[in-house]
Amino acid sequence: MPTTTTASAATKTTAAPAAAKSAKQPKPLPKPNSDFYEFAADLAAEELAIVKKARDYLETKVQPIINKYWIEDSFPFELLPSFKELKLAGVGKQGYGCPGGSPLLVGLLAMEMARTDASFATFFGVHSGLAMDSIYLNGTEEQKQKWLPQMARMEKIGCFGLTEPLVGSGTAGGMTTTAKRDGDTWILNGQKRWIGNAPWCDISIIWARDVADNQVKGFIVENKTTPGFSVEKMEGKIALKVVQNGQITMKDCRVPDANRLSGGQGTFRDTALVLRGTRHLASWEITGTQMGAYENALKYAQERLQFGRPIGSFQLVQELLAKMLGNIVACQCMLVRTVHLEAQGKLTDSHAALAKAFTTSKARETVSWARESLGGNGILVDYNVARFFADTEAIYSYEGTYQMQTLIVGKAITGFSAFVH
Ligand SMILES: Cc1cc2nc3c(=O)[nH]c(=O)nc-3n(C[C@H](O)[C@H](O)[C@H](O)COP(=O)(O)OP(=O)(O)OC[C@H]3O[C@@H](n4cnc5c(N)ncnc54)[C@H](O)[C@@H]3O)c2cc1C
Repeated sequence: MPTTTTASAATKTTAAPAAAKSAKQPKPLPKPNSDFYEFAADLAAEELAIVKKARDYLETKVQPIINKYWIEDSFPFELLPSFKELKLAGVGKQGYGCPGGSPLLVGLLAMEMARTDASFATFFGVHSGLAMDSIYLNGTEEQKQKWLPQMARMEKIGCFGLTEPLVGSGTAGGMTTTAKRDGDTWILNGQKRWIGNAPWCDISIIWARDVADNQVKGFIVENKTTPGFSVEKMEGKIALKVVQNGQITMKDCRVPDANRLSGGQGTFRDTALVLRGTRHLASWEITGTQMGAYENALKYAQERLQFGRPIGSFQLVQELLAKMLGNIVACQCMLVRTVHLEAQGKLTDSHAALAKAFTTSKARETVSWARESLGGNGILVDYNVARFFADTEAIYSYEGTYQMQTLIVGKAITGFSAFVH
């Protein structure tokens, strides 16, 4: 439900000279509202309350400090104790200490987090999505009982190691990290790169090629206590700077067979199953990123004066804002449909891929229009649009690049695979 606010800058300049008019109360301006078609209203009341609780947390605890951490390239560990109290980790998963919830709730929470900060949403998505989903979807009953409850309580934080220094898009066929069975243990060797949360987390899901059957298999590695496992924090990023990405090196790391994800097929299909869900989640995150950029741009347009008037009163600025909102609503509508497909168990890899390709490409437009509408201040972190502008680039590429998503869709609609085999 949109509320109203008073824009002091705007009213100062539009006040009419006549005494009778100036005595009137200033007309309240609409508060920026990026849920223009009110689709959060589709949530059940108790789930809406969870989204509101998350919004309140993000606006009061994350927003005030996040620019500082973004500039410093560091993670706000100070937030972890209070964030755990929200009990959101494992949302959408049933049992094993997870909070449950509908697919729409999972999506809206990801969107809500990214609306304030895409890095925070990514940190959460890596733990609650990529890492926990790997165990939830591909673990044995025993593995789920052992690992998921402590991850849901966020006593143990997870990461997901798929990408390698020399193999990114081509991991399905070209993975170089190896797993060799030796009695009751597996020996892992290789490197992983770009791994979110890796420099500080407790549990790493490592995907490696079994030298015996050449198939990709997943392993739960207790990285802080496994000899031969080391992580170097990646420096110099210009996007998602709050997320700590690491380069992992594994030298003869021994992992018990009990930690091999053996509830799935033991092939790359297990990895792809996790990615189907998390690519869908990334589409929600990038939609939230657009919402954050738009709302901050709109607020600015209501307050910033040029030529003695709020820039939001200029037609060309209004066009930028309307185009941003159009992109956001288009993405939201698409995701409401994909979430229905997911709830019915009908979401395919190509459905998720189209959502990721479409929403991330629209986001690049949206955040650049938001940046543009702030003029020079659009490149200053303090004005809360530059961060969304930069972070969008990373989301455009992670969880499979735009080109990879497009190839998945292309294969599904034409019947021809354009992948290199
Ligand atoms: C901030 C961030 C966080 C990340 N977090 C994680 C994580 O937690 N875990 C993890 O495992 N990975 C993570 N990644 C890695 C991410 O998934 C990869 O960056 C992505 O899959 C692309 O791989 P690449 O960077 O090696 O690019 P490349 O695969 O080298 O691709 C380079 C370019 O070539 C294009 N290209 C490649 N092959 C083809 C083709 N056949 N046809 C057309 N174009 C092609 C790509 O689309 C891209 O534009 C993260 C990345 C970033 C940036």
